[in-house]
Amino acid sequence: MPRKRTPKNDDVPPSLDEKNAQIQKMKADLKKLDAEILAEKKKGREAKQKHKEDMERLRWQERGINNEIFYQTSRHAIQIGIVKKDYDKTKIELAQLRVDLKLATDEQVKAEIVKEDQDTRERLERRTKHLEEVLKSGSNRKVWKECELCSLEFEEHGLWIPKVLKCGHTFCWGCVQRLAKPDFIRCPIDKTVFVFSENDDVNKIPKNFRALNAL
Ligand SMILES: [Zn+2]
Ligand SMILES: [Zn+2]
Repeated sequence: MPRKRTPKNDDVPPSLDEKNAQIQKMKADLKKLDAEILAEKKKGREAKQKHKEDMERLRWQERGINNEIFYQTSRHAIQIGIVKKDYDKTKIELAQLRVDLKLATDEQVKAEIVKEDQDTRERLERRTKHLEEVLKSGSNRKVWKECELCSLEFEEHGLWIPKVLKCGHTFCWGCVQRLAKPDFIRCPIDKTVFVFSENDDVNKIPKNFRALNAL
């Protein structure tokens, strides 16, 4: 018959109380662990938030710098533009003054102008006679499509292209070239002087499409 083993102290099964205590400890440990996890998560969230804020701040700084660069560049461009405009204006005014002076003092130019006005007067007299004849003869000539100075009918090409001066008067290309001086053109009808600037000469006088398209 086996001898009944006397259990040693170690082998004593834990009492209910001891088990309960262990469970309580484990629960407490778990709670602590939960708290730690929560704290870690919170730290992570905070770090992410901080990162987001840092990035946002950086983006704002970058935007600020870009704006500053843009502002400085545009200000510079505007300043250059103002100076250039002043320069161009001064050059045009200077050209205008030179022509004014020439018209007032240059005897040769003055004589040419007098001759030109005489010529215009004769041309306009011829023009009036021509219009009267057209009216009398009942001819269907489109007189409104003719150059006032030479009575040639406007055409799409060559010397008969209608050209309009800034005053609104239209003459054929041939007459315009005859009237133009190297630095100005003077409208023979209203005597307005148009000074050519550096980027502007007789070739820049625009075509009058309306005169061409008139029926
Ligand atoms: Zn005119
Ligand atoms: Zn003409």
